[in-house]
Amino acid sequence: MKKRFITEIIRVNARKPSYAIIRKAANLIRKGEVIAFPTETVYGLGGNALDPSSVSKIYKIKGRPSDNPLIVHIADMKTFSTLVSEIPPEASRIISKFWPGPITLVLKKSKILPEITTGGLNTVAVRMPRNNVALELIKESRFPIAAPSANISGKPSPTNASHVKDDLNGKIKLILDGGSTEIGIESTVIDMTQRTPVILRPGGISKESIEDEIGKVHSHKSLLGLHRSTTNVNKSPGMKYRHYSPNAQVILVEGTEFNAKNKIIELTQKLKSQGKKVCIMTTSKSLKVNADKVQYMGKTLEAIARNLFANLREADKNNTDIIIVQGIQYNKAGFAIMNRLKKAAITSIRV
Ligand code: AMP
Ligand code: MG
Repeated sequence: MKKRFITEIIRVNARKPSYAIIRKAANLIRKGEVIAFPTETVYGLGGNALDPSSVSKIYKIKGRPSDNPLIVHIADMKTFSTLVSEIPPEASRIISKFWPGPITLVLKKSKILPEITTGGLNTVAVRMPRNNVALELIKESRFPIAAPSANISGKPSPTNASHVKDDLNGKIKLILDGGSTEIGIESTVIDMTQRTPVILRPGGISKESIEDEIGKVHSHKSLLGLHRSTTNVNKSPGMKYRHYSPNAQVILVEGTEFNAKNKIIELTQKLKSQGKKVCIMTTSKSLKVNADKVQYMGKTLEAIARNLFANLREADKNNTDIIIVQGIQYNKAGFAIMNRLKKAAITSIRV
């Protein structure tokens, strides 16, 4: 039988976390446990990145395939230099501009990292988060912390402590509750081992901002394909797995505001007549549609990103069958948002 825990949830001040709470959490990590904690992107499920047994617990708890490597979180540059074997000049420029912050660099790894942490690759993904709970926890643990998002593999990432509880109650000892995360989608992952760096996952820092800093970067060609069209990609192993998906089926509708609204109304009518429970996620306040639930996604790209996963989880409640999501623009933060929606969707309709 699987080990069950009483999951303790401790509220912690995200700006100035209490030392006693951080110490309690860090002690669990030092003992080889894994715990959930907030970062500025989403909640992480963290354990000692240098300890294969801690890392294997992370994979097991999430149900994550073992060839999908983890991001290693650090709080200082001295630890960073122990994890990587080469730091190209462009990587240093990204680090000075964006760390601590929501961008993860893939670099050649050093020998101290166990294979399990990097999924057997000769590279490692590293990031310094910008959330004080995360930073203090890493410092107090005195280990780099391997942490994927604190959700069951394949589900939308958690952006508050109750999302983590919904997925992992009884499976971990502690959730540090630092409130809702600031950015709401995961970090940008960029492969710095190529002559021209390649974005493997768009995220909290946009391609445009990276290019302002280091010039041309490529986006991996699979980023805007539906999940099904990317199943053969193995550049970033995470790309081949189903992702961000609620239990309901997600249908993405893209096009001009006018066309998208009409299509959403038409689809909803059809699905309702088949007895389906339908929830809409829209950026249009004026959409009048006879659905079971209509959720407004937000006005700015930042707000849409911040609430995206919470909206997907909310839309999924009460046995929703179908979630119809209105697409948004592809530039700036829109690129990362559309990437998540494409991977969550079973189909995407352009009108
Ligand atoms: P998550 O842990 O869910 O935030 O996802 C981390 C993402 O980074 C996944 O898509 C991984 O496949 C990717 N990743 C982690 N390490 C590497 C690496 N060494 N090379 C390429 N991609 C990586
Ligand atoms: Mg994840």
